Amino acid sequence: MKVLLVEDEKKLIGALKYLFEKNNINLDFAEDGEEGLLFAEKDIYDVIILDIMLPKISGLEILKNIRKQKNSTPVLMLTAKDTIEDRVKGLDLGADDYLIKPFAIEELLARVRSLTRRKEKDFIGDMLKYLDVVYDGKNFLLKTNNNTFDLTKKEGELMEMLIKRPGQVFTREQIIDRLWGLETDVSENNIEIYIHHLRKKLKSSRVEIKTVRGIGYSLGEK
Ligand code: CA
Repeated sequence: MKVLLVEDEKKLIGALKYLFEKNNINLDFAEDGEEGLLFAEKDIYDVIILDIMLPKISGLEILKNIRKQKNSTPVLMLTAKDTIEDRVKGLDLGADDYLIKPFAIEELLARVRSLTRRKEKDFIGDMLKYLDVVYDGKNFLLKTNNNTFDLTKKEGELMEMLIKRPGQVFTREQIIDRLWGLETDVSENNIEIYIHHLRKKLKSSRVEIKTVRGIGYSLGEK
């Protein structure tokens, strides 16, 4: 699990770093809104925690921006006690949950866990489902209404990424990052080959991989 924390309170960052590490959760953190937005745009997180009052760009602005970019990562807002308007605004802008300061850090961890579970509600056992397509990530099997395909490991990883977040646009850079990590000799043509293979397999289904010109790919309904 990978979490982004955008928070300018050093003490809170320190406490959360310790707690998340202890629970085997990767934590990236940014101490101002500008940096936070950059992180949120560049990397793929399971949950993003946004403080509202931040230097440079507020948490609400970050949220607005990432939702505009069709990024559907669950967002947990941290708000002050006396700012009900901010809380309402946050939920309106697409926040999934909020926590009022001060809070017990274990409570934050519980909320983060619950958000990732909620996101994975479309799992059927180890299966991911979208419309008439089911992906079995354990066995790298892709099932459409009348076919079952064996996927290669990379095809499977790409399929998993897309089917977990239908509608979200993944940049080529994010895909390379997730599939190949730091190996740098991978070109964007490699991705196109995998996309091509997956598209062929999805042909008879209601699902397609859309190209978002100049940006990347997303999974959607035909
Ligand atoms: Ca703050």
